[in-house]
Amino acid sequence: MNSLSHWRVTARKVIDRVVRQNPGATAGELRKLVSKAYPFGERKHWPYKQWLREVNERLGPPSTTVRPPACGHRKPTFGCRACIQRK
Ligand SMILES: [Zn+2]
Repeated sequence: MNSLSHWRVTARKVIDRVVRQNPGATAGELRKLVSKAYPFGERKHWPYKQWLREVNERLGPPSTTVRPPACGHRKPTFGCRACIQRK
């Protein structure tokens, strides 16, 4: 799937650049810096999901506890409105 690799490759490049430019930053600091560098415009839909996947692969899962969505899905489920609206 070309669109999938496109988003993830772009996300990875941006994340890697931020990590390289901030060698002394903690994971928490990097999360904020990486978030500021988000390249895809609106933070929703498929590109944002792919972005978050890359961020979590690169920086590890977020340290803050994740609020469960109203729908009850434990993991963000594609196509579920409540999951998509999770931030
Ligand atoms: Zn859901």
